[in-house]
Amino acid sequence: MHGRRVAIYIHVRKWRVFPGWIGYSGAMLLDSNACYRAVRARDRRFDGRFFVAVSSTGIYCRPICPARPPKRENMHFYSSAAAAEGAGYRPCLRCRPERAPGMGSVDAASRLASAVIAGIEEHALSSARMGELAASLGVSDRHLRRVTEAELGVSPIELAQTQRLLLAKRLLSDTSLKLTEIAFAAGFGSVRRFNALFKSRYGLNPRSLRGHADPAGGLRCQLEFRPPLAWENLLAYLRLRAIPGVESVDATHYRRTVAIDEHQGWIAVSLAASGVALDVELSQSLAPVIGAVIVRVKQLFDLSAAPDAVSASLSQDSKLKVIVRRLPGLRVPGAFDGFELAVRRRSRPTSHGQGGDHDGGTLGARLRRRDCDAIHRTRSIDSGRASTRGGVGRPDRCARNHRRPVPVHRRAGEGRP
Ligand SMILES: [Zn+2]
Repeated sequence: MHGRRVAIYIHVRKWRVFPGWIGYSGAMLLDSNACYRAVRARDRRFDGRFFVAVSSTGIYCRPICPARPPKRENMHFYSSAAAAEGAGYRPCLRCRPERAPGMGSVDAASRLASAVIAGIEEHALSSARMGELAASLGVSDRHLRRVTEAELGVSPIELAQTQRLLLAKRLLSDTSLKLTEIAFAAGFGSVRRFNALFKSRYGLNPRSLRGHADPAGGLRCQLEFRPPLAWENLLAYLRLRAIPGVESVDATHYRRTVAIDEHQGWIAVSLAASGVALDVELSQSLAPVIGAVIVRVKQLFDLSAAPDAVSASLSQDSKLKVIVRRLPGLRVPGAFDGFELAVRRRSRPTSHGQGGDHDGGTLGARLRRRDCDAIHRTRSIDSGRASTRGGVGRPDRCARNHRRPVPVHRRAGEGRP
C-alpha cells in the first residue's frame, strides 16, 4: 500500500519550458500575463490547457477563439472548463470549448489528478461510482475530492457533470442523434434531468443547439489536437502492428471493430482537412457509448499531448533532438483497452507488415472471439436488431472472420439504419 502511494504522488514535469509561466496547479495559479499573450496570439499550443472567461458576457472560450478578444480587464483564466462553469460562465457557441483537446498527463500536477480526469472522462462518473474510482486508485473518497478540488478548482462530481454537459453539447451540434439518445449517451439518468441541467447551466434549450448533421451521413465527430501531429508515422506504427480481423490500416485511414460493454460496431479514423483534427466515423450501434469511444480514440492517437512541451524536453538530448526536428509531432500511441495492449505487446511486427508471432496470433484470435461473443449475447437478447445495429456482421459472418481477417473496410457501409 505504501509503495502504491509513493507511485501516485510522483510529480511530473510541468510548464517549465515556458518562460514566464508560473505553473499549473489550479485556476488560481495560472499566470494571467502568459494566458493573455496566448489569447492575443490565438496560440494553439495552449488550446485546452486553460480557458478564458469574459466577465462582461458571461461566456468562456478557448484561447484560439476567432471572436475579437475582449478587454484585458474583463478576462479571467481558468485551468478547466469545469472550473469556468463552476464560476458561472457558459461555453462559447463559436469556439466550442467541448472540442478543445484534452489535458495530457503532463498537465496535471500529480498522477492522481491525471488518473481522476481520465477516469471521469471515460465513465462520466456518478456519485454512486465515485467510491469505485477512489478504490481503484487506492485512495479514500475524501482524498480524491481534496486533490481534485485543489488542482482543478472543482469537485469530482462537478467535473463529471461538466463532462456530461459538454459531451451532450458536442452531440447536439455534430450528430443527428435523438435527444433521448444524446441524454443517455452523455451519462444522464433521464431526459428530464438532462433538459433541466442543460437549461439551468447554459440558459438554453438543448434543441436550440441542434446542428445540421445529415442523418444519412452516419455518426461522425471531430477530435481536435494541438498540432503538429505526425499522422503518417502514427498510421505506419499501427499498420505494422495491426491485429488481424480487428484493425485495418491503409495510407489514410485507421479502421477497426469495437466492443464496449454490450455494444459492438466499427470506427474509421482519418485526418480532417483542417489538419488540426481527426475525423471519426462510427457505426450507429456505438451511439450509446460514443463518449467512451471518443476517450479511447484520444488515447490511441495520444491527442491530449502537448507537442511543444514534449519536443522541448526531448531536444535537451543531442541525439533525440535530430529525430524531433526530422519528425515533428510524434506521439506515443496508446491502446483501445488493456487486453489489446497485451496483444500488441506480444505481437511482434514482421517485415511484411503483419503483427503476430504465435502468441500474438492466439491473443488476436481471443480478441476477435471476444467481440463476436458479445454479438452473440446481444442477439440472444434482441435477435432482431443485433445484426443491423452491430455493424460487425452476423455471428455466422464472425466465424468466417476468424479465418479471413480484416474485412473492416468493406463493412464500412453496414450497420447504418
Ligand atoms: Zn469563443
